[in-house]
Amino acid sequence: MTNQEFATELLNWYQDHKRQMPWRGEADPYKIWISEIMLQQTRVDQATPYFQNFISLFPTVYDLAKSDQQEVLKAWEGLGYYSRARNLHAASKMVVEEFDGKVPETYNKIIKLKGVGPYTAAAVTSIAFNKPNAVVDGNVIRVLTRYLGIEDDTRSTKTRRKVQEFASELIDPEHPGDFNQAMMELGSEICTPSNPDCQNCPIQAGCVATKMAKTDTIPYKSPAKKKPHHIIGVGIIERDEDDKILIALRPNDAMLGGLWEFPGGKKEDNEKIQQTVERELKEELGVEVKAYKELMSLKHTYSHFSITMHAWFCKLISGDPKPKESQEVRWVSREELGKFPFPKANKVLTEKLTQKS
Ligand code: SF4
Repeated sequence: MTNQEFATELLNWYQDHKRQMPWRGEADPYKIWISEIMLQQTRVDQATPYFQNFISLFPTVYDLAKSDQQEVLKAWEGLGYYSRARNLHAASKMVVEEFDGKVPETYNKIIKLKGVGPYTAAAVTSIAFNKPNAVVDGNVIRVLTRYLGIEDDTRSTKTRRKVQEFASELIDPEHPGDFNQAMMELGSEICTPSNPDCQNCPIQAGCVATKMAKTDTIPYKSPAKKKPHHIIGVGIIERDEDDKILIALRPNDAMLGGLWEFPGGKKEDNEKIQQTVERELKEELGVEVKAYKELMSLKHTYSHFSITMHAWFCKLISGDPKPKESQEVRWVSREELGKFPFPKANKVLTEKLTQKS
């Protein structure tokens, strides 16, 4: 199978089988850019309602650039990887100020925007501006390592580079956007991680893995390192006079930056969880508290570690809470909690607190 035949077969298949998505067929580079940022680390079905809501809140790059970061994070709440939202917001200002409100058309310019890496740069410039830049994501890696019969570890930069080079040779210069989307669609619908549907694959004629019966072992990915697990204690301080609850705004440069949370931190060895909460609140807020009752505990997994979070009601004994390790602290009523963007685990706590009232 020649490269030309590969591209033709793939594009023909895509014309007949592409799925409907709210951003498919979209000509506005701004919306294409938003969709590509959302689709990083996120499935299509999960991203779709967020995309629709985001576009209704911020229909143009100008609307996004002039919005408040808190509004953007609120629209992103629950989608995870919040640096994407912060970077997108910062990049929208850059587009307005440095590019006259137009999403840059070339790879070398768009990649200068915050949060835009090689994948997004290739995806946006090919789909929005017809530039022949090949995307390489997990789907493309799976399709091409199988097609070429590459048995090397796909975690290695060398393997990824090999796949990138081959994808760049294959891409159809006339239809680069469709070609890229077709590759990803093929990976997600036909060349699936297990039981690929080789009988219905448009590039089966040239595929090494199917010929050699190696679709079970290609792609090879070396085992991931075990994620560390942390026990976290957080405090819910209720103010006696008005029952308001204290929340803190995480520093912008930290993980989950710009989101609100209940203050707390990691349990140390030989410490009871109540002691963790009391110590953490002293360190973070400069107050003495008594942790007196557990609200709930829950487990959550992030990309590089997992946690069990224990949330405790606390009584304020002395001191006035100060944002020693956060941007700001605020007393809010239970009803107001829903207005603030929280990361997922904290969001569960806010819902529990709201139910109780
Ligand atoms: S023939 Fe099978 S293994 Fe090869 S690319 Fe197609 S679906 Fe994947």
